[in-house]
Amino acid sequence: MTSLPVLSDARWLAAPAPAPERTASVREQLGALATICEAARCPNQGECWADGMATFLLLGDVCTRSCRFCAVKSGRPAPLHADEPARLLDAVRALDLAHVVLTCVDRDDLDDGGARQLARCVRALKDDQRTVELLAPDFGGDARALGTVVDAGVDVLAHNLETVRRLAPSVRDRRASTDRSLALLDAAKRRRPELVTKSGLLLGLGESDDEVLDAMIELRGVAVDVLTLGQYLRPTRRHAPVRRLVDPEQFAALADDARTLGFLAVAAGPRVRSSYRAEALWRRALEGHRNIERGKAAGEARSEHTARM
Ligand code: SF4
Repeated sequence: MTSLPVLSDARWLAAPAPAPERTASVREQLGALATICEAARCPNQGECWADGMATFLLLGDVCTRSCRFCAVKSGRPAPLHADEPARLLDAVRALDLAHVVLTCVDRDDLDDGGARQLARCVRALKDDQRTVELLAPDFGGDARALGTVVDAGVDVLAHNLETVRRLAPSVRDRRASTDRSLALLDAAKRRRPELVTKSGLLLGLGESDDEVLDAMIELRGVAVDVLTLGQYLRPTRRHAPVRRLVDPEQFAALADDARTLGFLAVAAGPRVRSSYRAEALWRRALEGHRNIERGKAAGEARSEHTARM
């Protein structure tokens, strides 16, 4: 029997501890709103919160799904709060966030998966001149729900593949699938081609590097712009075990592969999470889009010139 890796062997996973005073002040500014930083026990909370960055968890803090890697509580959620957009805006202003990262629990109990409420939150922030990244659920494959949030004006639409195709059925909730996730990312890009799309995987669940490469190829097949790769950390003993520790050099090699495949921005490292340094990744992707457009315009000008000669 192969033994499982020992997390304390991975020096590179050590993260700055949250500073109690800073944590308390960010928590106060967040009010009653939940964050994925806390709900998912993110290893970067000390670093991000020290910089006043937090990722909001909307639609409540109880998820209708139950994935084997995720620390968020699952069960029967409470009804939505009508004042969630206003509370969110208050917290964003208090934290003075220019680029706001939102995520949410899955709400399979709601007819639209929570899309209208998410759209209200996005519009409240856009009307206040903020840029918005939304890590969206799959809305059970409901294209209309996806359209509602895409049309609300998100600047980045993220949706995580979470793991490689072979492991998805045993690691993700049975209602999620690789094909459904790819279809969502594809539909978002087709609806608004200028939209930056983003996806991520957690490594260490038993996948091989070749399978990660296959996942990247599939993501580029639906024109995903931004990729994040991070190390899976087991939240509790009830969750899936960590099967391998990926060291920083392996992450760097995978990041090189991702850039070669055409991702415009890549973050890969043991503590990388979907929302880690999100604004910087978004800006890099925008620059990449601009360069592509400039390249196309230059190509067209050259062809026109040649045709005239
Ligand atoms: S990486 Fe994201 S989830 Fe983790 S602490 Fe930073 S903002 Fe929060």
